[in-house]
Amino acid sequence: MTGKRAWQTYLIIAAIWLLIVLLFVAYSARQSINQARDEVKQTGMALHRVLSQRAAQHDAHLTSLNALILSANPPPVDALRQVSRNIIRFYPRISIIDVLLLTREGTTVSAQPFLMVDESEHGTVADDFAASIAVQKPGEVRTYISDKVADRYYLGKKSDNSNPGYAIVMAINPALMIEPNERPDWADLSLSIDGKTILQQHSDSPVSSSFFQPPVFSQQIDSQNQPIILTLSRPIALSEVIDSFRVGVLAAFSLLVLLISYSLWQSVRAAKKAEQKAQLLEHETRLAHAARVNSMGELASGIAHELTQPLTALLSQSQAALRLEASGERPDLLKQALTANVREASRAGEILKRMRNYMSNHEPQRKQMDISQSIRDVSELLRTDLTQRNITLLIQTEKNTPAIMGDAVEMEQVLYNLIRNAADSLVQTEKTDKQISVTARSGQGQLVITVSDNGSGIADDVLPRLFEPFFTTRNGGMGLGLALCATLIERIDGEITAANRPEGGAEFTITLPVADASSIKV
Ligand code: ADP
Repeated sequence: MTGKRAWQTYLIIAAIWLLIVLLFVAYSARQSINQARDEVKQTGMALHRVLSQRAAQHDAHLTSLNALILSANPPPVDALRQVSRNIIRFYPRISIIDVLLLTREGTTVSAQPFLMVDESEHGTVADDFAASIAVQKPGEVRTYISDKVADRYYLGKKSDNSNPGYAIVMAINPALMIEPNERPDWADLSLSIDGKTILQQHSDSPVSSSFFQPPVFSQQIDSQNQPIILTLSRPIALSEVIDSFRVGVLAAFSLLVLLISYSLWQSVRAAKKAEQKAQLLEHETRLAHAARVNSMGELASGIAHELTQPLTALLSQSQAALRLEASGERPDLLKQALTANVREASRAGEILKRMRNYMSNHEPQRKQMDISQSIRDVSELLRTDLTQRNITLLIQTEKNTPAIMGDAVEMEQVLYNLIRNAADSLVQTEKTDKQISVTARSGQGQLVITVSDNGSGIADDVLPRLFEPFFTTRNGGMGLGLALCATLIERIDGEITAANRPEGGAEFTITLPVADASSIKV
């Protein structure tokens, strides 16, 4: 992977990781907020129930006090005081019980204190409501709020008797309507009547700036005459919602998982690629083999082509031997002919063996070999034939030719083909000094072999097609000799080229890698 691509991949991983962490933060924030909302709702409902019950108790006290007022005329002061004291003792949130005697003169209502229990300093407040209570329906209870006293609300009940009538005023301390243990320390709580706050209690751990909209519970308590609205909210601090430890663990874990998944993915991809490559290679090998097998016909012709020479030699040597035997002359020549036959027969066998190897997809038998020796052997093989055709064969090799890695028989086939082709070309010329020259030179880790002749050369349109299988310009030619030469040379990492010499005639050049320095013969 290139550096740029690696960076891009790491950036993508970082982006995915950040997304996972953000999603987790959002999810846990949502969970915390939902939890807070449930908590607020449940606590709010519990407080609402308690407050409604307590408001109902106020009504009950007013009813029993009213009953006592109506029990005698004038009402029994001592009994009223006793009952009021008991109520205040058991219900500390009721701070005053005040009974007023209301007298109406025309439209004016005056209120004289008839009885007051506790917080006598508030006595005047009750007078403020006297006129309003006087016009209440008998038995009706109403809630009042005083501008003078902020932390109380008042319940005024007009007694059932008429003018002069009585009124009961009850002062209630809202702060005591909720027990300290009933309000959770996280809660912001307020009680209000007609938009006026009568109690405000803040959370024990106030949140400086609420990052999230706090969940709120707000509902009027179940009471017909005490329209108190309970409002409960839960401010949420950022630290409460984002648990840095959990986020840290998740961040580390998700990064680890991402990196492991990435490296797993990479190794799976590499394995897949390797598998694909192996499949491709196998496919290619199969194709190559198939191509080789397909060219069986071509090779069959090749075999015939290659075998013609040793078989012809065998035939002519055998005929000569027969003639010698019939004449009974020169028995030494008979032996010579038979030896040559043995050599030609084993050469034919060797060619067939190599062809079989070639077709069965075998690698050539590459060994360190001396090309000068092959040149000498081939020239020896062709010498008689060339002499008959009036062709001179010149050989120029270095004294210590470096070894090459090749198959000696295959190299001989190549040299044989090239020399025979040169001879075929020379036969068609009228020249008197027909010459074939074979050279071998080394340099820069390479061995260069040339086979040249002074024949008519190669036509320009023929030159590019020389190594094509079945390309021939000769009558009865098969066009396989040079194609086979190219195959054999390329198989041992060499190269073969053809060109026309400036002085006339063709030149074939084979370039082969030298085996290695240690193999150079001294
Ligand atoms: P074939 O000998 O059966 O024609 P080759 O593949 O050996 O097949 O040769 C292909 C052709 O290359 C020959 O037909 C000939 O035209 C040309 N050729 C090969 N060697 C020489 C050469 N030394 N001089 C001129 N032409 C050549």
